[in-house]
Amino acid sequence: MFNEDLAAHYLDTFASLSLPDNQSTTKDSGVIRWGMSLLEREAHTFFQEEMRSLGLDLSVDAAGNSIATLPGSDPDCGALACGSHLDSVYRAGRYDGIAGVIAAMLAARHVVESEERWRHPLSCVVFACEESARFSQACLGSRLATGLTSRSDLRRLHDAQGISAEEAMKECGLCPEEVDEQRWRTEDWEAFLELHIEQGPRLDEEGVQAGVVEVISGSTRLRITLEGIASHSGGTPMELRHDALAGAAEILRAAEDYARDAAHPGTRVTCGVIDVEPGGLTTIPGRCSMSIDIRDTSAESQRAAREAIEDAVATAAARRGLSATITPLSHVDPEELALGPRQALRNACRDLGVSFIDLPSGASHDAQIMARLCPTGMLFIPSLNGGVSHSPDELSRVSDLVTGARVLHAALRRLDHGA
Ligand SMILES: [Zn+2]
Repeated sequence: MFNEDLAAHYLDTFASLSLPDNQSTTKDSGVIRWGMSLLEREAHTFFQEEMRSLGLDLSVDAAGNSIATLPGSDPDCGALACGSHLDSVYRAGRYDGIAGVIAAMLAARHVVESEERWRHPLSCVVFACEESARFSQACLGSRLATGLTSRSDLRRLHDAQGISAEEAMKECGLCPEEVDEQRWRTEDWEAFLELHIEQGPRLDEEGVQAGVVEVISGSTRLRITLEGIASHSGGTPMELRHDALAGAAEILRAAEDYARDAAHPGTRVTCGVIDVEPGGLTTIPGRCSMSIDIRDTSAESQRAAREAIEDAVATAAARRGLSATITPLSHVDPEELALGPRQALRNACRDLGVSFIDLPSGASHDAQIMARLCPTGMLFIPSLNGGVSHSPDELSRVSDLVTGARVLHAALRRLDHGA
């Protein structure tokens, strides 16, 4: 049933499957469970064993996505599915992805133990390698399943150690050579619902138990490289400099001003990586490369933000005599989620007396990819500690997770009845 002790036990079990952090000087360095690693496979195995013990049928596809299915009474129906991911970023928390997998596990257990008869198959899905932390590609497992990423891309994607995604998959027993043939078929899926932690402060601030996601932000990722002239920091007068890092600072300031302007409320711009060469205390930076991540809930304003940043690059480069190159790394449009699953989640909240609001998702999720395959919905549960995520300080209440699992089950049940 929907048991808080069991949810807490699952959270502890998944958190224990973590790499030791040799770099860490603090006590709590969080969870490290890279996508396409043996530890991620171990977490999937725990999920598989729990689901098998309940009598669900297990399959793992070539990309490493695990699917546990309870057959329905009508063999012609596609699956009603729920789930999320079990990989993590570097020094992560215990809830991102894991909460959605646990909610799916609790929902399946409830259906089995209550001996409910469903018309549709119920599938609990754990996607492989959702985080972009290792291969700079988000949602790798779901993208391979839906054909947005193919086998040839797996050779192109490399981690910081130079291991390709293809090699990493082989090392943990997966079958990258079969991913293109094993794509999922749209007729096998009736709907997909993902529960996730909010990764933002709104639900906790507004004192509600859940959020129904209306739209998932798109993202545009760029690498900007500025070339100037490296020279002596004491000998070169300020007016004669071609300082690449100072140019990057100007671009970052312009990007931040743009995104903070009240005229662009859905736009978020972040520079998370910056490399400076030659990197000496007494040398003017001759080369600087920076990442830019643009998130937006509207495709039009996402494009406008990109243009504004391109303009800022041109202005800074011209003013400082730098040469600038902009390399597009990836682009995903915002995804408005289907009305049917959204309505089912709202009605499920009402049925159970669970307070909720509608809201957008700033982060990307496997649901964004599954939305290409079938009607898809997302349910957020509150993130505490100001909504911090991708951090050991990530926190959600177990009681909110269990409430979310009840809503997830009730929404899927409604979809099973066609309501
Ligand atoms: Zn996640």
